[in-house]
Amino acid sequence: MMLANRVALVTGASRGIGRAVAVELAARGARVALNYLANRDAAAEAASEVVSAGGEVLLCQGDVASGTDVEAMVAATVERFGRLDILVNNAGITRDGLLVRMGEEDWDRVLDTNLKGVYNCTRAAVRHMLRRRYGRIVNVVSVVALTGNAGQANYCAAKAGVIGFTRAVAREFASRGITVNAVAPGLITTDMTSVLPEAVLESVVRRIPLGRPGRPEEVASMIAYLASEDAGYVTGQVIPVDGGMSLG
Ligand code: NAP
Repeated sequence: MMLANRVALVTGASRGIGRAVAVELAARGARVALNYLANRDAAAEAASEVVSAGGEVLLCQGDVASGTDVEAMVAATVERFGRLDILVNNAGITRDGLLVRMGEEDWDRVLDTNLKGVYNCTRAAVRHMLRRRYGRIVNVVSVVALTGNAGQANYCAAKAGVIGFTRAVAREFASRGITVNAVAPGLITTDMTSVLPEAVLESVVRRIPLGRPGRPEEVASMIAYLASEDAGYVTGQVIPVDGGMSLG
């Protein structure tokens, strides 16, 4: 139980990668605050999976893009569990389209959720970590932040922004026992990628050396490692979990 007595907040944990992370952290002994935006039924299902994995869970509805919502969910987590050791900034969305057709609303919504959300959650959570001089922050980015992807200028900009943010705050908090890292998934089978046309999926899979999409659990185990005490000498890093896709 490498995360016994630890408390984690996982954003966007009702589905996909976030849900797998919440379950994995719980299986390793953590108590988990499980954030979601709108999908109450999926969040309730995720919460029962966390409980089945042996964890205690707190459901936190809230929009990571809203500073007020984030303050409230961090306060609720600390009130319920007494501390906050681990933050996984996972909530994310896509609003794909070629730049010439990308409206300002699609740009803003992706930047607000995927980049400002990370700023909101980190700022609120780190106050509690600084007090204890211990913390683990893991940001979920994407291989496309490193490679670029046509039709995803907003998403790539936001995720590349999170990589810069990760490196900056890793330096700011290193002397206080707080590590900050990023995990960059490739193609992972979730609701986010299920909307892609079959032909697009096939062409992406052809570029993956391991020859298949990844499973949310395969990302979750890397995140659980970075969230553990064992990863105490790793900070400011971006770790691809992509079947070799970023090898080029
Ligand atoms: P997903 O299945 O679409 O799930 C998205 C999750 O984020 C849901 O729990 C959703 O809550 C939550 N969410 C969305 N907007 C939110 C907001 N404003 N505030 C709080 N929660 C919000 O996505 P996924 O594929 O698991 O992706 C998770 C992360 O991995 C994202 O950051 C994504 O960019 C990244 N990623 C995914 C892939 C991939 O291939 N799937 C690849 C690289 C990176 P509701 O259920 O309430 O809507």
